[in-house]
Amino acid sequence: MAKSKTPTVVNRHIYTRASYLYQAADYLVKCQNQGSTISQDEPTKAAECQHESSVSDSAQLWRRASSNTARQMLAEMRSMTLKAQVRQSPDMKRTVCKYCDSKLVEGQTSRSYIENASKGGRKPWADVLVIECQICKNVKRFPVSALRQKRRHLRSSKAQPYTSVKPGKQDMPALPNEVTKPPAAD
Ligand SMILES: [Zn+2]
Repeated sequence: MAKSKTPTVVNRHIYTRASYLYQAADYLVKCQNQGSTISQDEPTKAAECQHESSVSDSAQLWRRASSNTARQMLAEMRSMTLKAQVRQSPDMKRTVCKYCDSKLVEGQTSRSYIENASKGGRKPWADVLVIECQICKNVKRFPVSALRQKRRHLRSSKAQPYTSVKPGKQDMPALPNEVTKPPAAD
């Protein structure tokens, strides 16, 4: 009996579980966001019903519980992918704080800004996107315009030398004491 030719994914159940956990955490964070908008509208109704304090307390408790559950799910996803040595997709990885396992939502649990550490901000390729977690205050840094370094196995002796940044650099005056490229992000 011939085997089917459909390509199989190694550790498929790990990917499935990780995807499920990520989506569940994302859903909980979104619900939490909706809950906060509801709780802002709620006090007028609650004042009429004389249950203002109990409604706000229960909403706050529910929000905290869903936040903790989301963090627990993302922590489990992280530990599972680390143990199975499964690479997370960059888009997924960038939206999770690796220090406190919070889902990073712009304007809610994180804020982002551009940082340029070059002298006077004169080097446009030194722009770094900084995403700060509002819960643990740790930051992630991503180079914006600097080209990404090739992976190690692509940097062999036979491979083409890394020359894509050089033409721009030759136009600029040499500044040996300054860092020309930001450190590579994780
Ligand atoms: Zn954090």
